Amino acid sequence: MSSNSLTIAVSKGRIFKDALPLLDGAGIVPRDDPERSRKLILDTSRDDVKLVLIRASDVPTYVDYGAADIGIAGKDVLMEYEGDGLYELLDLKIARCRLMVAGPADGARDSGHGLRVATKYVNSARRYFASQGKQVEIIKLYGSMELAPLVGLADRIVDVVDTGNTLKANGLKPLEHIADISSRLIVNKASMKMKHAAVKQFIDDVARSVARFNPDE
Ligand code: AMP
Repeated sequence: MSSNSLTIAVSKGRIFKDALPLLDGAGIVPRDDPERSRKLILDTSRDDVKLVLIRASDVPTYVDYGAADIGIAGKDVLMEYEGDGLYELLDLKIARCRLMVAGPADGARDSGHGLRVATKYVNSARRYFASQGKQVEIIKLYGSMELAPLVGLADRIVDVVDTGNTLKANGLKPLEHIADISSRLIVNKASMKMKHAAVKQFIDDVARSVARFNPDE
């Protein structure tokens, strides 16, 4: 990382799409469309700014270790992350959804054992149920959590919910709200010191874009 360049880590898909107008407001336009290109490092309209495209759950790791100066990560991912080499500086108010407990729409089944909860959000689920004084068994999954109650693997899931259509299509319904989720701007702690002018300028530009897109908040 040179002292005047910025590397920004972002995941493909929903977050990237929603972040594009915010980056544009900071004068940063990717030179390739990540949905078409297989490149993992994208040049941008600014010679000093590169984007790296990685899995959403890897964004905090790249930023924590300084492989990227800045990242755009969902609050759901940040709530799970345990490293301390990054600052969460700005709510981008994009990719909004809710972290929820969900279960069978036809009512709770008595499975004859303690409540089993399947989720990829193990830390958030554990914290939430502990805060409710409920003892549960947490089963770590990496995807398709909705399947778990259908095949008797778990009584509940903890997942992010947007429209609720995925839950509904699988005979599930949202039961308890854990947290409101949106994407956040995160910054490597060392970059914040060493590249202060560039990072601050970027954050100010993006913050202005966020305010422009959310005039009522
Ligand atoms: P839904 O609109 O509730 O049917 O959402 C469909 C699926 O998309 C959910 O099960 C989530 O896994 C995922 N999803 C929805 N919103 C987000 C988001 N903002 N960030 C990450 N994943 C999301």
